[in-house]
Amino acid sequence: MPSENHTLSATDAALATLLRRAEPCLWLNPRRQAVLPRAQPVAGSSIGLDDTRAAAARFARFAPLLARLFPELQATAGVIESPLLPASGLHVGQGRLWLKADHLLPVAGSIKARGGMHEVLEFAERLALRHGLIGAQAGPDDYLALASPAARALFARHTVAVGSTGNLGLSIGVAASALGFSAVVHMSLEAKEWKKERLRQRGVQVVEHAGDYEAAVAAGRAQAAQDPFSHFVDDERSLSLLLGYSAAALHLQGQLRDAGIAVDAEHPLFVYLPCGVGGAPAGITFGLRQVLGPHVHCFFAEPVQSPCFMLQMMAGQGAHPSVYDWGLSNQTEADGLAVPRASLPAAELMESLLSGCFTVHDDTLFRQLVQVLDATGERIEPSAAAGFGGPAMLTGSDSGRAWLAEQGLQQHLARATHLVWTTGGLFVPPDEYERFVQRGRALS
Ligand SMILES: *Cc1c(COP(=O)(O)O)cnc(C)c1O
Repeated sequence: MPSENHTLSATDAALATLLRRAEPCLWLNPRRQAVLPRAQPVAGSSIGLDDTRAAAARFARFAPLLARLFPELQATAGVIESPLLPASGLHVGQGRLWLKADHLLPVAGSIKARGGMHEVLEFAERLALRHGLIGAQAGPDDYLALASPAARALFARHTVAVGSTGNLGLSIGVAASALGFSAVVHMSLEAKEWKKERLRQRGVQVVEHAGDYEAAVAAGRAQAAQDPFSHFVDDERSLSLLLGYSAAALHLQGQLRDAGIAVDAEHPLFVYLPCGVGGAPAGITFGLRQVLGPHVHCFFAEPVQSPCFMLQMMAGQGAHPSVYDWGLSNQTEADGLAVPRASLPAAELMESLLSGCFTVHDDTLFRQLVQVLDATGERIEPSAAAGFGGPAMLTGSDSGRAWLAEQGLQQHLARATHLVWTTGGLFVPPDEYERFVQRGRALS
């Protein structure tokens, strides 16, 4: 809840009412800055474009190894990326709508293939360097040594652990076990059975928790702290995850160029990112703001019952509100977004970079999932549909229109690009997906 001594403005008060009633609403960031310093403060250190480039370079060094470990990556020579797809059929307003199709990301089937894979690779690289399996100057082909029996024996002595609502566990579990690590995934109560089963089939130890995402992370963190050979991927704190996500910006920059999409004062780019704890959308926003400049506007989308990032941004640094404090339940079919409290580093990093946050009803997610299927044939999971309400939130609400006018964006909307980040879906079993579609059709 906002602190006692914090006086709410009239718009904040109206927003607080909508939040408490679990009604869709829009928050616009008054602290966003157009011009950025070269480095951004986060968690007592600072990161900049060089760190994003370093993450991209790490993915490149590992590419031949990844192509060997994952047959599905042979076609791309080990590159884990997603297409940029036109989706004009889904858009009614001005400008053009595109999808950044992370629901097609190989290996993990969700956006977690970016951050999760990066942190596992960074851990493996650190061990391999320390034990002399590769040298500091090693190139991509040298990294094939990490598939050798000696490397696998080294990795097998170490555990990679994580707490998750499902998709992060899927990514970390699959990546870690493929390299030969022992892998432990602490799953919160939302985690879908098929995600647990997929991991067990790969020899990953799945620990089921009756509590929420925070509880699963806390349990995993505590258990890993007892074991010096255990690396805990901390979704609430990790900079390696964040930087892994940020590397997406460099690839997207090339895709925008290839598609002839300009991003400048006359051609604003609006990006809508589904948000759970905030690591994935914050990492991507961090990358995009550095690579594309001030004319990219990033918005986070959250379920009406789990708007943890919006609450955190409203409260500011020094507070750490939970959705339960606001009388919300954290109950949502968007399992990837069912998080009660935001990542503090992600929120700190977003202070001056983010344009805003908005919330969505679960019913809307299912309707939009069906609209995506009918208009494009793409199969996304409910979490991945959260961004689609973004354009209407901006152009159809009073606060959104006022903000567009104040930012000088209103007159450029006809030439704007709206990019909805569809964050997951590839591995949803067909019968489960069919139930999503039936629910969406029954609602429309
Ligand atoms: C995890 C996830 C997100 C959000 O990522 P966070 O880092 O938790 O904010 C969005 N969509 C899907 C499908 C996810 O699995």
